[in-house]
Amino acid sequence: MKLESTSNRLSILVVDDEDSIREGSERILTRMGFQVYKASRGSEGLDILGRHPVEIVLLDLKMPGMDGMEVLAHIQQLNSEILVIIITGYATIETAIEAMKRGAYDFIPKPFEPDQLRMVINRARERIRLTEETEMLAQERQRNLADLGTEKSRIRTIVESLPNGILVTNVQGQVALINPAFQWLMGIEEDVATGEPVESCIQDKGFCQLVKDISAGNAHTLSETYEFTTIGEKYLQATGRPVLGDVGECLGAVVNLVDITAMKVLDRMKSEFVAKVSHELRSPLSTIHEQLALVLKDMVEKESTRDQYLLSRAKEKTQGLISLIGDLLDLSRIEAGNVCIDFKPIKLDELLKNIVDFMETRANGKNQRLKLVLHDEPIPLIKADPQALESVFGNLIANAINYTPEGGAIEVGISLLPEKIQIDVSDNGFGIEAKDIDNIFKRFYRVKNEKTRFITGTGLGLPIVKGLLDELGGSIQIQSEPSQGSTFTVFLPISAENSPQNAESQTE
Ligand code: ADP
Repeated sequence: MKLESTSNRLSILVVDDEDSIREGSERILTRMGFQVYKASRGSEGLDILGRHPVEIVLLDLKMPGMDGMEVLAHIQQLNSEILVIIITGYATIETAIEAMKRGAYDFIPKPFEPDQLRMVINRARERIRLTEETEMLAQERQRNLADLGTEKSRIRTIVESLPNGILVTNVQGQVALINPAFQWLMGIEEDVATGEPVESCIQDKGFCQLVKDISAGNAHTLSETYEFTTIGEKYLQATGRPVLGDVGECLGAVVNLVDITAMKVLDRMKSEFVAKVSHELRSPLSTIHEQLALVLKDMVEKESTRDQYLLSRAKEKTQGLISLIGDLLDLSRIEAGNVCIDFKPIKLDELLKNIVDFMETRANGKNQRLKLVLHDEPIPLIKADPQALESVFGNLIANAINYTPEGGAIEVGISLLPEKIQIDVSDNGFGIEAKDIDNIFKRFYRVKNEKTRFITGTGLGLPIVKGLLDELGGSIQIQSEPSQGSTFTVFLPISAENSPQNAESQTE
C-alpha cells in the first residue's frame, strides 16, 4: 500500500451522520493511536480524503444525501487500497455484505461496543502492516534481482576483457564459456556455441585431453599445466583446474591460457648465450687445470708443502668450474632439444649394473655400501638414449653418495609395473626438508645447512635429470625424511613393442 502520511501514525476517517457514533469512535480511535478525521456527510468525507492521506475509512451506509454505497464507489476510484469498514444497522446487514462484494474490507453492526470497534480496527491495522511488509519484501527481492543482474553482467564484461584466454567446460568437456582472448590466442575464427565438445573447436590433442581429464574429475594435481605451440609459432601455456561444487564434486574445468612466446624466445637466447660463454671458457680452464697438475707433480718431488696446498686448492676450484661449465652445456643442449637423439634398445639392468660398478669406488671412499637389487622378473628392453640414462642415474647415485654420511648405505632397485619400469635410488643419508623438496629441481638451488655446507656441487644435477627424463618420456618422484634418508623414484615408459610379454624373447 502506498502510504503518504508524513508520520508513522495511521489515519482514520469516520463518516457517519450520527454525532454519537462520530464522537464515540473518535475517542476510542485516538486512544488507539490513530489520527482521526470526521465527516457527517459522504461528500464531506470525500473532500477530506482528497486533502489528507487516510488508510482506513469507517463508513455509515445509511446517510442523507450521498449514501454509503456511492461513497464507497468514489473511494474505490480514488484509492482502492484504502480499507473501508462499513457501519451498518442490523436491518441492513445484507447491504453490508453487498458492500463487501464491491470492495469494502469489513463491517461492524450498529450499535457497537468499544471492544467490537477495537477488534475490527486492529484487524484492519494488522492487514495494513502485513501488506506493507509484503511490499517491502517484494521491493527487496526486486533490488536483489537487479543487483544479481548487474553483478552477472559485470563478471561477464570482466571475463570478456581479460587479456588471458579463459575456457570453461562442463563435466562432459563441452564448452560452457569461452572468451575472445582465448579464441584469438587459439586462432579460432568462428564463434563457438555453448555445448560444443572442446575437440570441435581446438585441434591440439594434448590440450583437449587435459581439458577432458580435468572436466571429468580425473586431474592428478590441483592445477595442471600444459605447454604447446600453435601453427603461427606461438608458444601457449594452459593451466587448468577443476570447478568444484558445494560438496566437492567436479562440475567441469576452467582453463587459463597465456601466450609465453616472448618468455620462450628470451629463454632460448639466454641458453644460447650461456652455451657460448661456457664453450669459450672450457678450453682455457682445462689447460690451466692440466698445467696446475703438472706443477703440483713437480712440487711433490721438491716437497714444498705450503705451495702444494695452495696449488691443490686452485686445482680443486678449477675442477669445480669445469664441472659447472659441463653442466651448463648439458642443460643448454637439453633446452635446445639436442639430446636423446640416439634412441636404441637398452637392457636397463645391465646399464644400471655398469653405473653402480663405476660408482662403487666413490662409495667405498666414504665406507658406504652401494648395491643394485634385482628381482627375478625379466626386465623388458626399453628404447632410450643410453647416454641420457647414464647421466640420469649417474647424477642420482652421485647425489646419494654425496648427501649420505660416511658408513651409510645406498641401494638401487628396479621393478616392473604395467607399461613402465620403476627405478628407486635410496639412501639413508641427510634427507631433505619438505620446504626444499619443491625447489631442488630448480637451477642452482642447493640446500644449505650444517651437514651440506662443505659438499661442493653446482645445483644443476637435478635440473639436468628432470630435463632428460622429460625428453625420454619418463618422470621422477621424491620421498625424503630429514636425517632418515631419501628415495628418488624414476619411471621410464615401456613402448608397446617392448612390453613384458616380449621381454623373454628380447633379452635372450
Ligand atoms: P648439487 O648436488 O650439485 O648441489 P643437484 O641439483 O644434484 O645439485 O641437487 C640439488 C640439491 O638437492 C643438493 O644441493 C642437495 O641439497 C639436495 N639433494 C639432492 N640429492 C639428495 C639426496 N640424495 N639426499 C639429500 N639431499 C639431496
